[in-house]
Amino acid sequence: MGVKVDFTPGGNPVKHGGSGTAYANYKCRCDECTEANTARTKRRRNARYGEAPPEDIHGKYSTYSNWGCRCELCLAAGAQHNSENYISRKNRLEELTPVTEDE
Ligand SMILES: [Zn+2]
Ligand SMILES: [Zn+2]
Repeated sequence: MGVKVDFTPGGNPVKHGGSGTAYANYKCRCDECTEANTARTKRRRNARYGEAPPEDIHGKYSTYSNWGCRCELCLAAGAQHNSENYISRKNRLEELTPVTEDE
């Protein structure tokens, strides 16, 4: 695996993969470029973490988890989500636990 480089008719190098610039600039949709673009989008999503979210999306678990917002509303949403997860995980575990009856 290496970086594939093509040239545009104008002689500009098109580097496939990498940071996804060929995908964005030259609309290349080869595997490498698509993958690079997906990674870039994901990075951008992660970069959002810690930024202030828009005012109207507080109180949602997605705001809590994607934005890392810890305002009162989002904390409550996060706590509720986590406790729901906890409960379903606990139920699942209880289902899986073999019942041993030793009297
Ligand atoms: Zn490409
Ligand atoms: Zn919030």
